[in-house]
Amino acid sequence: MPISMTGGCACGAIRYECATKPMFTWICHCRDCQRSTGGGGGVNVVFPKPAVRFTKNAPKYHVLTGTSGEKTYRGFCPECGSPVAVKADLIPDIQGISAASFDDPSELALVAHIWTASAQPWDYMSPTLPKFTTTPTTEELQEIVKLAHRS
Ligand SMILES: [Zn+2]
Ligand SMILES: [Zn+2]
Repeated sequence: MPISMTGGCACGAIRYECATKPMFTWICHCRDCQRSTGGGGGVNVVFPKPAVRFTKNAPKYHVLTGTSGEKTYRGFCPECGSPVAVKADLIPDIQGISAASFDDPSELALVAHIWTASAQPWDYMSPTLPKFTTTPTTEELQEIVKLAHRS
């Protein structure tokens, strides 16, 4: 995977650049991710916050308060509606990027399913990946990061 990863929304109004490799990629099956992507969950590619730079416009953020009481920010393009980014006060040091918004998302590899508690019965679950019923704890998150860098 190249060190610098670029991407943007469907219409090209928003462009970004990620200066490092992702920490990990997971699929979140919470209802918010389902609604914002229109599918069974959101595939979020997670970076340290300073690694992500918007090079053309910035997403518009839709703010939601999650079950934890903390806010989640869903970044999308106000022109074409593509989801591009996710931020959460619960995990403030990281910036999630929507997998499909990368120019080349083909080399991403999923490390976990999260929020399986609200997954739809018709959704596909990998039989081998670790699963978390809600948001992983800090310790579990460290395990996920380790898993992601084993390969
Ligand atoms: Zn757009
Ligand atoms: Zn989610």
